[in-house]
Amino acid sequence: MAAGSRRAGCSQYKSQIPKLRVVSRCGCGCPTVDFAIGLGCKKGYSQIVADMEGTSPEGVRVGVIVHIRQDEISEMEIYSITGESKGFSLPKPTSLVPIGGW
Ligand SMILES: [Zn+2]
Repeated sequence: MAAGSRRAGCSQYKSQIPKLRVVSRCGCGCPTVDFAIGLGCKKGYSQIVADMEGTSPEGVRVGVIVHIRQDEISEMEIYSITGESKGFSLPKPTSLVPIGGW
């Protein structure tokens, strides 16, 4: 484990992906979603494990950040790189390019 790294170990979280359920969505109109594996979404301090960018089906350039809370994947944040808060949806996974992590 690299001391001082802001990223958590990534590969240990990949096995959680098939178990994730979407439990809530951001209210502002963006496609950001909260996940849970067990009963509820984990709260509190978050660590970033993946930073990606891609293109939404509408052609908007978006960034995707995956947050870990209490050792579970808890949120996938999607934001427009050009600043819109609406008018885009989840990017195609195949369009995503890692900025780091994973
Ligand atoms: Zn939002």
